[in-house]
Amino acid sequence: MQDEFGRTIDYMRISVTDRCNLRCLYCMPETGVENIGHDQILRFEEIERVVRAAAALGFRKFRLTGGEPLVRNGILRLVEKLADIEGVEDLTMTTNGVLLDKMAAKLKAAGLKRINVSLDTLRPERFRAITRGGEISAVLRGIQAAEDAGLAPVRLNVVALHGFNDDEILDFAEITKKKPFDIRFIELMPIGSTGERGQFISTQDIRKALWEYIPLVDRTGVAEYVRYPGAPGRVGLISPISSHFCGSCNKIRLTADGKIKTCLHSNREVDIRPALRENDGASLLNVLEKAVREKEERHYINEGEAPVARGMNKIGG
Ligand code: SAM
Ligand code: SF4
Repeated sequence: MQDEFGRTIDYMRISVTDRCNLRCLYCMPETGVENIGHDQILRFEEIERVVRAAAALGFRKFRLTGGEPLVRNGILRLVEKLADIEGVEDLTMTTNGVLLDKMAAKLKAAGLKRINVSLDTLRPERFRAITRGGEISAVLRGIQAAEDAGLAPVRLNVVALHGFNDDEILDFAEITKKKPFDIRFIELMPIGSTGERGQFISTQDIRKALWEYIPLVDRTGVAEYVRYPGAPGRVGLISPISSHFCGSCNKIRLTADGKIKTCLHSNREVDIRPALRENDGASLLNVLEKAVREKEERHYINEGEAPVARGMNKIGG
């Protein structure tokens, strides 16, 4: 469906939990997280009803995220149910990959199309530091399992962090010479209480580091891709901050506790649980439709807008 600014909104990111088995420095508060109570979290049957309503309004792409989606019990059952809904053309997931090794083939069989794995460094000790204790070997096995399962193209998301991984840009790019992966560098966003502003690097700076090595092959609304000549994979640059792509934004988010967020950088949230309780279908459609129609025109971060209060783990990145 279209919003007030004529944008077609057809993509929903669904956070299935705010819990996570890692504690990335820029995502989770240093003091740990206060989890939402189990009774506050949408049940699978409720998520299914929201997806049915969204599909009826013209939504076609759905991404499961979190927190860490693979720690939610029964996630395969949810994937199966959602993949079966008429109108759901593209069902994907963003994961930290820790549990992917054993899940990749099952996710594919349940109907998941593709997968994004977040990986900010290729070095075990740096991985341990940025995730506060994670083991990179599990993630690397997970990525291999995703490739083997045909969750293609596998995408690796790398948050670019000044003084942390800016010396690994070419190491990451090197992977695309051998693997048919999209490796995407993403700008750090000022979200929640944890955004380390001093670590921000713009994708323009990353592009400069790559420019002399790889030509640009593709540009879409939200991403630029470059490819080494003859390479099976691509390197992508995603710049939500430096060149905000609000004019072509096509998505909304559903948080694990049942709030619709129509802009990542806005504090406006629409609670859909009252409509879910109505149990008549029409209320849910109305609430969703109104929320989408009133989607924010753009963010104002570059003009000094304050970061939103919810951390990324509680929104669904
Ligand atoms: N746990 C899963 C994962 O890490 O892929 C899914 C949820 S996580 C919140 C989704 C994505 O958001 C990850 O790629 C993570 O790196 C990214 N992210 C979290 N906080 C961010 C921030 N402040 N700026 C940019 N990306 C962020
Ligand atoms: Fe967990 Fe993903 Fe946040 Fe890292 S980025 S703490 S893996 S939710």
